[in-house]
Amino acid sequence: MNEHVAPENPTTGSTPLMAQYLEIKAANADYLLFYRMGDFYELFFGDAVKAAEALDIALTKRGKHLGEDIAMCGVPVHAAEQYLEKLIRKGFRVAVCEQVEDPAEAKRRGSKSVVKREVIRLVTPGTLTEDSLLEARAANLLVALGVAGDAFALAAADMSAGEFTVGAVAAADIAAELARLDPREVLAPDRLLADEALAPLLKALGPALTPLPAIKFDSGAGEHALKTLYRVSALDGFGTFSRAELSAAGALVGYLELTQKGKLPALKTLARVPERAFMGIDGATRRNLEIVETLSGTRAGSLLACVDRTVTAGGARELSHRLSSPLTDVAEIAARHDAVARFAGEGDLRRSLREDLRRAPDIARALARLSVGRGGPRDLGALRDGMKAADALAAKLVTFNDPLKPSPGEADDARARLTTGLAATRAFAEHLDRQLVAEPPFTTRDGSFIASGAHAGLDDVRALRDESRKVIASLEARYRSESGVPQLKIRHNGVLGYFIELTPQHAEKLQASPSRELFRHRQTIGSAVRFSTDELATLAGRIAEAAEKALAIEREMFDALQAEAMAVGASLSDIAGALARLDVSLALADLAVEKRYARPVIDQSLAFDIARGRHPVVEAALADAHAGPFVPNDCNLSRENGQRLWLVTGPNMAGKSTFLRQNALIAILAQMGSFVPAERAHIGIVDRLFSRVGAADDLARGRSTFMVEMVETAAILNQATERSLVILDEIGRGTATFDGLAIAWASVEHLHDKNRARALFATHYHELTALASRLDQLACVTMRVSEWNDTIVFLHEVAKGAADRSYGIHVAKLAGLPAAVVQRAEEVLRALEDGREGHKPLARIDDLPLFSAQQPMKTQAKSSALEDALRNILPDTLTPKAALDLVYFLKAMSEEKN
Ligand code: ADP
Ligand code: MG
Repeated sequence: MNEHVAPENPTTGSTPLMAQYLEIKAANADYLLFYRMGDFYELFFGDAVKAAEALDIALTKRGKHLGEDIAMCGVPVHAAEQYLEKLIRKGFRVAVCEQVEDPAEAKRRGSKSVVKREVIRLVTPGTLTEDSLLEARAANLLVALGVAGDAFALAAADMSAGEFTVGAVAAADIAAELARLDPREVLAPDRLLADEALAPLLKALGPALTPLPAIKFDSGAGEHALKTLYRVSALDGFGTFSRAELSAAGALVGYLELTQKGKLPALKTLARVPERAFMGIDGATRRNLEIVETLSGTRAGSLLACVDRTVTAGGARELSHRLSSPLTDVAEIAARHDAVARFAGEGDLRRSLREDLRRAPDIARALARLSVGRGGPRDLGALRDGMKAADALAAKLVTFNDPLKPSPGEADDARARLTTGLAATRAFAEHLDRQLVAEPPFTTRDGSFIASGAHAGLDDVRALRDESRKVIASLEARYRSESGVPQLKIRHNGVLGYFIELTPQHAEKLQASPSRELFRHRQTIGSAVRFSTDELATLAGRIAEAAEKALAIEREMFDALQAEAMAVGASLSDIAGALARLDVSLALADLAVEKRYARPVIDQSLAFDIARGRHPVVEAALADAHAGPFVPNDCNLSRENGQRLWLVTGPNMAGKSTFLRQNALIAILAQMGSFVPAERAHIGIVDRLFSRVGAADDLARGRSTFMVEMVETAAILNQATERSLVILDEIGRGTATFDGLAIAWASVEHLHDKNRARALFATHYHELTALASRLDQLACVTMRVSEWNDTIVFLHEVAKGAADRSYGIHVAKLAGLPAAVVQRAEEVLRALEDGREGHKPLARIDDLPLFSAQQPMKTQAKSSALEDALRNILPDTLTPKAALDLVYFLKAMSEEKN
C-alpha cells in the first residue's frame, strides 16, 4: 500500500490521506467510520478506542496527528460482517467508507494522491439486510414517529422483508403501539425530546432511538418522497393519508435513502393500518404475559415458542407479528379460523404442504438484499427454489376452493396470490432454472454460478480454459520424460499462477539435463525450486484470459437476472407473503390437532365464556416434566352470566396466576386467528387487554416495584372499557397490609362500577370477598385445596366460593423454612387473628411478645392446633376406618399437649 497515515512532518498538519479521513469523518460524526484501506477497514482516533474495546481487538498506533499519536484498529474486510454484528448489537452505528476508484488510477494522478473514497452505506439497527446480522425468525422493524400539528402517526418498515405500513396513533397510545411493533430502531423529530409527555418514552428506547431534525418530518416532503419511491404522480391509488402519516412514512423513506446512499430497497405498497385494528396491549401487559419473549428476555418459554410450528422463516415472522397484533375485526378473524379449520380437517394435505414449505427458502430477505445491491447468486437460488416450492403448493391447492367443502378462509386468498404471482414470474423462473447452477455460491466474486449451456460465449471460453488445463496436464507427463525427472510436478497458486516444482535435489538434475534451456528458474523456497517454460506461460495466460472473460459474462448475466428479479419484485413479494401465511395456517392447524385446541366463537357480544381452558405454556411444561396433567378450568365473565368480575382467592401456589394468564392468552390466541386450548370458547371482541401480574422490579428505570405497580394499575383504571379484558394479579401486594388492602378494594370497586370491563382479580386479601354482597356483577371463586394433617394439596381447580385464609405458612413449611420459624409464625398469626375477631383494633406486630420466652405460648398453640384439627373434620366424608384413625390421632394430639 502506498498510502501513509503519518504526515511527513508532524508540525505541518495532516497528510492528504488524513485530510480525506477527517473530512469524511466530520460528515459522519455520529457513526464509527470503517475506512477502507486495502484489505482492511481501519478505524482511527476515538472510533478506534471505542471499537477496540467493543470488539476486543488490539488498539495500535499509526503515525501522528498534530503531534499526538493516532489510535488505530482494523478489521479484515472479508470478516467485516461479524464485527459489524457485534458493534450493532452493542448499540453502535457504522459508516462504511469504500475506495471508489482503482488505486492505480490514483497513482496516475501523481505519486502522493489519495484513492477516492466514499461512504457507501450507513449501518444502523433498523436497516440491516444481511442474514448474519438478522434473526431469521424475527422481523427487523424501522419505525418513524411522524407528527403534524398535534396528530401523530407511526410508519413501520421491515427493509429486510419489504413490509411497509403506516397508521395514525393517539398520543396516549404511542407507547403501546411501539410495544406492539417492537422496532429495532425508531426515528423521531428531535424536538419531541423536549416534550414532557413523550420524552421519557423516547428516552427509554435507548440506543434504538434515532433523533432527526424536524425538517426530515415535513409532510410535504414526505409525500414527495413516497411518490418518488413508487414512481407515481399521485398517491391516491394507495389510499388517503393524513399529514401525520405522510410525515412518518416520508421520514422513514428519507432515512432509508440516507443510509443506503440512494439505493432504495424494494418496499411493498404502503399499507394504511386503521386505528384500533389490533387489540390494544401495552408494554407491561406484553411483558407480563410473556407473549413473544419471557420476562428474562428469552424466546424459549414464551407463548410464541410454545405455539410456533411454522417451518419457514417467513412463516415464523408472520406468526410472531400476528401474536403481537391480535385483530379486532370479526370477519378477518373468522377468515383465519376458517383456514386453520380446513387444514386441521385435511391431515394428508396438511402434511404434504408442510413438506413443500420446508423446502422454501426466504424469498423476502433474498429479494431485499438484491434490491439494495447486496445480493449474490445464492439469493437468486433462493428465489428459484422458493418459486419451485410455491409451484408445488399451488398445484396441490388447485381444487381447494371446492364449494362442497368448508370455506378455506384466508388460505384461498393465499392460493390465489400464489397462482397469479407464479404466472407473473414464470419467465423469470425459467431463466433461473436454465441459467443458475444447482448450488450457487454466496458471492459473484469467483464466478461458477452460471450453468453450462446457458450462454454460448461462456461455454466457449470455458471450453478454451478446460482445453488449456488439459494441455497443461499432458505437459507434466511430457516434461517428466524429457527431463528424466519423474518427480516433476506442475502446480498452481494464486501468486505465481502455474509453475513447475521440484525438490532442490531434483532441481539440480533438471538444470544438468539436456532440456535445461527449456526451464526458466522462477523461485526457490526452502523445500522447493520452481520453474516455468514459455509454453506453460502461454497456456496459463490463455487460462487467465478465459477466466476473466468468463467472469465478465457471468457478472453480466447476474446483473440481468437481478434486474429481472426487481422487475417482478412485487409478484415475488406476493408469493413470499402467501407462503408465509399458508405456513402460519398450516402450523396452527397442526398445533390445534395435536394439542386438542378448539375453534373459538368470536363475535361482537360481551361474552367471555371459556369451558375447560388450559394454559398452553404451563400445560406443555408439565407434560415435558412428566409432572402430571394440567387441570382445565372454566371461566365465564359473560354479561348474561351476571358475573363479569371474578375475585379469585386461594393460597400461594394454588394456580391463581396460571388461571388468570391462561384466560388472557386464550383471548390473544383467539383474536390472532388461532384455535385455543379449551374445550369451548365464546369471546366477544376484546378491544384492549390489560394485565398486571406479579411484582416485577423495574429498577432499570428507577422506579420501585410498588410505584410500577401503581402506575400500571392507574393505566388500567383510566383506560379499560366495557370491551376490555383485565387481569389483575395481587395488586397492592407491594405495600403495607392496610394500604394494599385499601387500594385493592377501591380498585375492584372502580373496575366494577366504572370500567365495567370483563375482569379477573386474584388476591390473597380474602377480606375482599366481602365486596361480593355489594357488587352485583362480582363473583367469588377460589382455588380448591385439600387439607390433611397440616399438609395441603393443591387441586388447581377453580370453584365457587372464597378461601378463608391464605395458607402462607403452609407454603413456607413446604418450602423448608426451619420448623421453629414456622411454629413461631403460626403463633404470630393466631395473635393477629384473635385481635381481629375480638373487634379490637388489629394487634400490631410490635405489640406481640416477640422477644418473650418461647415456652409460654406453646400450650396455647397446641390447644389451637387441636381445635383446628377438629374444625377441619368433615364427618360426612369420613370412612369408618378414617374415623377411627382420626380418634387415635386426636387422642395422641391431646396427650402431647399435656
Ligand atoms: P398462585 O398464583 O396461586 O401462587 P401459580 O398460578 O403460580 O399459583 O401456580 C403455581 C404452580 O402450580 C404452577 O407453576 C404450575 O406448576 C401449577 N399449576 C397451576 N395451575 C395448574 C393447573 N390448572 N393444573 C396443573 N398445575 C397447575
Ligand atoms: Mg400468583
